[in-house]
Amino acid sequence: MEENQEKNLDRHSGIVALAGRPNVGKSTLLNRLLGQKISIVSRKAQTTRQQVLGILTAESWQIVFIDTPGVIEPHDRLQEYMLQASFKAVSGADLVLMMIEASVGDILEDQPLLERLRGVDVPRLLLINKIDLMDKPRLLPLIAQFDKTGLFDSILPVSALTGDGLPELTREIVARLPKSPFLYSEDQIATQPMRFFVAELVRETIYDMLHDELPYASTVVVDEYKERPKNKIFIRTLIFVERESQKKIIIGRKGDQLKRIGQAARKKIEEFTGNGVYLELWVKVRDKWRKDSLFLKQAGFDPQAI
Ligand code: GDP
Ligand code: MG
Repeated sequence: MEENQEKNLDRHSGIVALAGRPNVGKSTLLNRLLGQKISIVSRKAQTTRQQVLGILTAESWQIVFIDTPGVIEPHDRLQEYMLQASFKAVSGADLVLMMIEASVGDILEDQPLLERLRGVDVPRLLLINKIDLMDKPRLLPLIAQFDKTGLFDSILPVSALTGDGLPELTREIVARLPKSPFLYSEDQIATQPMRFFVAELVRETIYDMLHDELPYASTVVVDEYKERPKNKIFIRTLIFVERESQKKIIIGRKGDQLKRIGQAARKKIEEFTGNGVYLELWVKVRDKWRKDSLFLKQAGFDPQAI
């Protein structure tokens, strides 16, 4: 007990919100820092619909990352929830990491986010990501441009993909963590329940296989997740689409597309859980699910909970 209290006195721990437009590399950064795939990575924009919490713990410090959804103008209820979640997360954090992409970095496009950040009283770091795609000298004008806003304590060029600049980033974050006992137990990487990751992995698989035919029209809900002693984990997931025609695409001729999706998703889930998995997939048509608040609530997008 006494030893624990002494330990706590030296400890630093805090919440870091990752902000930035879709596709700049937020999920890649989290995965790289945490060394485990916890947040869906995709070439398509806006695949992170729900807040994902990743936790990086060392001897004397702990960083709790919030991966906020991409900042967008809301067009429907789902996007509205995403936007709400995004800014609630930012204002409750100890530090904001704003991320931009070196190759397309243009201050005008980030203006709406910069304006919102100006109103949030939290220290801010700017990450210029994907520097592996760009010559160093071309970064300087970009750095100067963002420096002039006066919004950032520090500006760091990084590559989430190669890991370049990430040790410096960790140092800069740790230097700004408040003195605090750890917010989560030391062995926790992520507090999201396993179900959430399973749904994300199935969704990622569907996007990977069908993104040309099925853009954003599906969502995945884990209906049952049962760990069974001496047996494979039993998982039943429901894939919701908006139209009968989309259901046909997912199922494929004689069910072979769905079979392929199931096989690929099962492999990913087995890798993630470290266990054998029995995976059942059901495809259901739910008209206009993106606009249906009751359905969104049942699927876990609860506006009250954000
Ligand atoms: P998010 O929407 O901000 O979470 O972005 P993702 O992490 O999903 O990344 C979007 C795309 O950018 C993916 O194809 C990543 O592999 C790629 N990406 C992310 N970071 C880097 C980087 O540092 N260098 C390069 N070349 N690609 C990157
Ligand atoms: Mg993401």
